[in-house]
Amino acid sequence: MIHNSNTMLDPDTLISHIKNPRKADKALIENAYAFAQQAHEGQKRFSGEPYVNHVIATAQKLAELHMDATTIAAGLLHDVLEDGNVEEETVRKEFGDEILFLVKGVTKLGKYKYKGLERHSESLRKFLIATAQDVRVLIIRLADRLHNMQTLEYVRPDKQKRIALETLEIYAPLAGRLGIDVLRGELEDLAFPYVYPKEYAQVRELHREQKKALEKRVESARRTLLTLFHEENVEISYIGARVKHYYSLYKKLKKRDMDIEKVFDVAALRIIVKNVGDCYRALGLVHQLFTPIPGRVKDYIASPKPNGYRSLHTSVFTGDGGRIEIQIRTEAMQREAEYGIAAHLSYKEGDSKGASAQSLPKSLSWIQQFTEWQKNISESGEFLKDLKMDFFRDRVFVFTPQGDVIDLPEESSPIDFAYAIHSEIGDHFAGAKINGKLSALDTKLKSGDIVEIITKESSKPSSKWLESAKTAMARKNIKAALAKDK
Ligand code: MN
Repeated sequence: MIHNSNTMLDPDTLISHIKNPRKADKALIENAYAFAQQAHEGQKRFSGEPYVNHVIATAQKLAELHMDATTIAAGLLHDVLEDGNVEEETVRKEFGDEILFLVKGVTKLGKYKYKGLERHSESLRKFLIATAQDVRVLIIRLADRLHNMQTLEYVRPDKQKRIALETLEIYAPLAGRLGIDVLRGELEDLAFPYVYPKEYAQVRELHREQKKALEKRVESARRTLLTLFHEENVEISYIGARVKHYYSLYKKLKKRDMDIEKVFDVAALRIIVKNVGDCYRALGLVHQLFTPIPGRVKDYIASPKPNGYRSLHTSVFTGDGGRIEIQIRTEAMQREAEYGIAAHLSYKEGDSKGASAQSLPKSLSWIQQFTEWQKNISESGEFLKDLKMDFFRDRVFVFTPQGDVIDLPEESSPIDFAYAIHSEIGDHFAGAKINGKLSALDTKLKSGDIVEIITKESSKPSSKWLESAKTAMARKNIKAALAKDK
């Protein structure tokens, strides 16, 4: 069978996603489209379809993410250097420096065989540096990878696993850190069966057993709530089931002894309302109808996740022996939850230089910080350790006594927290109170902990601190202070 989903896509379809496209936008996309067609003339994908379909699918995803014309054009051109044998100079002449930068940035992590992060730290570092300069490089790369994953069945079996593993270990986590949940979830679920076939089958089976009961429960809660909202005049834009992605279900199951009974959000009901006030009113009505499970109410509107995610969550007993999670948010929050950083970029007016990391929300500053620290480090082993620890691990969200949220890699200690606030606070660390209790230096912080750092002017870093410091930031500062002392 030939996979041929994109033959109908023309430049106009791509342009139709741009809000108020200018003449120049249209011309740019038409030119890039024609250029890509010519560069990939006669080339075929493993599926047998024309190669150009791949770059059109990439550009289409970028258009759906509401990226600008420059990014869509770069998506069309992203393989012309490597696969189309076009000279860089030609791209520069035809499309200018900005598009050449994007295309080259995407190409950087290009042709190599993925055999685990270790082998690729150098190309990954270059790629992240390009991303720090302009995050659109990463977004194009994610769209490119998505189509490669969608057509992975046509690739040789030994390559399939490698590509899927790289997707799980690098691209999906990066999409998650950017808050682009539509891409993260899709990438993970496409990769999951190739990387962990047995576990995938197991999760699917567990889910299948529960599916009918869950659907019934969600549907009955939906109908009851709809009536109540109507009576109480809370206007609902959308209310419906949210399907949990298999891979994220698998990750949860792993933490809960593979017992699906212990996962509370397998079934979830999503409610979208008009404004923030209605979010809280809706939450009140939900709790009026169903008993909330203690400790499961989460207000990510008042305290957004570090990647920008906002929503109210609660888990409730449905009265029939079951439980469901309910998520309440506005339309804007929904858009941000799905598109993350892409939503911010696409709503930015004016020149596209604004997409560089400098002007990005705080949630992205880590890429820049990280590449800054790495500039002077030639040892790639160290780079990789930091990268794995700081960015590809799950995060914990910890609070200052003032209520500011600090996000840290799992297993971070109070010393990491202190340095994340300020190097001065880290350097004069004398102790920490976690949730009001004096705690040991090597305590592992958990999400929701409130951490207060005690400092003393006379206190200074010791080699013992290094044993508890996990983040690159803490370790670097401590090492620098120890070196000065010698
Ligand atoms: Mn490609």
